Amino acid sequence: MRHELARISNRNLREAAIAALFVGVIALSLSARPRFAVSVQPRPSPRAPAFETSLVPSPVPIGVATEDVDESSAGMRITAKVPRTEDARAIEAKLLRELNRYPQSLLARLNVDRFLLVSDLRCDALECGGLTVLEHRHIFLEADSSDWITSTFPGILHHEIMHAIDGTAGCDRSDAAWEALNPKSFRYEGNEFVPLPVGKPKPGFATAYATSTVSEDRCELFKMAMIEPNELLSRIHTDRVLAAKLSLLESRLRQIGPLPKGWPNRRKRLFSTYDL
Ligand SMILES: [Zn+2]
Repeated sequence: MRHELARISNRNLREAAIAALFVGVIALSLSARPRFAVSVQPRPSPRAPAFETSLVPSPVPIGVATEDVDESSAGMRITAKVPRTEDARAIEAKLLRELNRYPQSLLARLNVDRFLLVSDLRCDALECGGLTVLEHRHIFLEADSSDWITSTFPGILHHEIMHAIDGTAGCDRSDAAWEALNPKSFRYEGNEFVPLPVGKPKPGFATAYATSTVSEDRCELFKMAMIEPNELLSRIHTDRVLAAKLSLLESRLRQIGPLPKGWPNRRKRLFSTYDL
């Protein structure tokens, strides 16, 4: 799957996630205590991407790159090109349609300030469909007219949004409650470089990629709930682990506020089964 950080060494992913969180914590502590003189060593700062903000009203600002992007985050080089105007417009329409499914409470929890539409998005030269850069508080989204992007864009978007709600990416903090739902013998594959898992998902996982790290597991399940709710409802009838993960994810989201529109409704499914 050509996907955020796809095929990147998972060790890099771990370092990226740790570094991104670390920088976030430092930034918070500096702004919280302005009275104290703090000596900070100058460090090369990445060049902020140049973009123009879309004039289309959006619950989260959308920027379209106006110059080629070349920024670094946690030792990884992120590059992208200016998208074609018609491609950016087409993706922008899809983006708005999907964002309108989210309640304000969830959008307010995003740990990013902006979506940035680009083309030929790459992380350490590898192609990505989307990339959540927590350190710089933006989500890059590939805006091209390829069949791959056209057909998978909603899934990429929801996956990245889950990373942004989580405030995690790649190998993140452990999640004991989530991991306890996995079979005892299961271990995520994500702390060494492994080929991206593809193919039929194992029981308990929304997709094969969900077995890479606990963070990706959450994001892939969230994605499936958003784009394939009926398929997910069918699977949880016979997959106890996946059903338990959906319950946990749902309870965490409910703590923030209402669920997104189109979220799988188990009660409705149950009734419709009885109706048959
Ligand atoms: Zn991901």
